[in-house]
Amino acid sequence: MNVGRILYPVEVLGPGKRMGIWLCGCDRGCKGCSNPELWKQRPEYEVSIDEIMMLVDKVGVEHDIDGFTISGGEPMDQVIELTKLIPKLIRYSTDILVYTGYQIEQLYARNDVSTEFILSNIAVLIDGEYREEENNDVLLRGSANQRIHVLSEKYEDRYSLYLSTSHNQIQNFTTSDGVVSVGIHKRGF
Ligand code: SF4
Repeated sequence: MNVGRILYPVEVLGPGKRMGIWLCGCDRGCKGCSNPELWKQRPEYEVSIDEIMMLVDKVGVEHDIDGFTISGGEPMDQVIELTKLIPKLIRYSTDILVYTGYQIEQLYARNDVSTEFILSNIAVLIDGEYREEENNDVLLRGSANQRIHVLSEKYEDRYSLYLSTSHNQIQNFTTSDGVVSVGIHKRGF
């Protein structure tokens, strides 16, 4: 799996203290994308599911992981790998939120077992390409065209409360590679 970064605790992309996993590879080229460094997959970012889980386990023994937010890049271009990762993440939390530049209708139209498995086992999908001109500071969404689909009935109340009481915030992480700024950034960031 080609992974650009894994951060914890992410508190600005969904409820609670979450683990954020950013996958590499996206050929959509949205103008104003805040993660262009994740457009290309790189051999040095190739990691096994076991390696990812070693990191998750290391965090999980000492901290509560309230959920996972998987972004990119384009997560739904690595569906086979995701079908292996998601069942392991579920051991910690079934609150798995996935961002994708595809629309949910396009994903269902794939008629692909891996894609269907993912959509059946995650809590939330936020879909649609990023449109800079529609970046209006809407909660959890880079632009207003994107839609929040709560796919698991179990999480309807949790997300309904979160969406009605929260606002966009930015969180900066200091890493060995420098500062990574996480959240929904304003246009022109
Ligand atoms: S889909 Fe997301 S990662 Fe890909 S170019 Fe658009 S904003 Fe960037």
